[in-house]
Amino acid sequence: MKSFNKTLKENNINLLRKSVSTLQVNMGKLCNQACKHCHVEAGPKRTEMMDMNIISQILRLLKKTRSIKVIDITGGAPELNSNFKYFVRQLRKMQLHVIDRCNLTVLHEKGQEETADFLAKNHVEIIASLPCYTEQNVEKQRGKGVFVKSIKSLRSLNSLGYGKGNKNLKLNLVYNPLGAFLPPNQKNLESEYKKFLKSEFKIFFDNLFSLTNMPIKRFSHFLEKNNKLNAYMNLLYSNFNPNAAKSVMCKDLISVSWNGLIYDCDFNQMLEIPIASKFKNIFAINSFNEVTQKIATKDHCFGCTAGSGSSCGGSLI
Ligand code: SF4
Ligand code: SF4
Repeated sequence: MKSFNKTLKENNINLLRKSVSTLQVNMGKLCNQACKHCHVEAGPKRTEMMDMNIISQILRLLKKTRSIKVIDITGGAPELNSNFKYFVRQLRKMQLHVIDRCNLTVLHEKGQEETADFLAKNHVEIIASLPCYTEQNVEKQRGKGVFVKSIKSLRSLNSLGYGKGNKNLKLNLVYNPLGAFLPPNQKNLESEYKKFLKSEFKIFFDNLFSLTNMPIKRFSHFLEKNNKLNAYMNLLYSNFNPNAAKSVMCKDLISVSWNGLIYDCDFNQMLEIPIASKFKNIFAINSFNEVTQKIATKDHCFGCTAGSGSSCGGSLI
């Protein structure tokens, strides 16, 4: 297997970020779940949390970075951060489009009784993980009891108007493979999901995003333990798609960690691969446009460029 950077060179691809239109904000690693594939290694015992000092600086920078229109909030379970609602309200006041990466079960946690309603009132797009439409497969990856709670949450989101074609109440689901294989065709899988969830549970959603498992953190430990890491890396490498590589999400996105460090994407953040810029901290810049065009890539990036490609918004092509 050749390295990712060599593969880019051989295909005459020079990955550069021209301008930033999406800011991904990781509000912390605390989560009510501890999924097997989690690239954040999030869980109920994690204590890392974005505080108000960091949030205020992000808001200040956004006021000076007109190119950013979308704020993609992630975690952990970002709703568990006590500053989550404040942050969303401020972003909406600035007329920014806000995405909440919601694990669905968090809506059943103590203190989260009003969260679904809050998200709907603020027109927050929801992107929710549901790696399969069967209970057995979901629980294999995400833990016992997760499927039933997820179905309940999807129903209450539907009752608030989510997932029914209203552009202000978008509900998108995320699929990722249960094992060391590439995801199937996104459109076909979306039709299957829609058909099954409607007929079995009367659940509706807008789009399905099909993601490739990144060979990092918990998923890579799982592969290593089962002696499958090399085979999986070779699978990603042998399915390298230059067209997907030309469209990777880091070309117009940057990511900020719970403690205010800047990264090329959430995956680089978890691997602590610093951005190329000399400014690595949100307090060192006056606008997100100061972040360098250069993108720091390594072999895990094959996860974004295999087959139809993969990003936080699903397939790339
Ligand atoms: S719900 Fe998401 S953040 Fe939480 S452990 Fe699972 S994959 Fe990680
Ligand atoms: S892992 Fe991150 S840096 Fe690498 S190609 Fe994907 S989005 Fe870009």
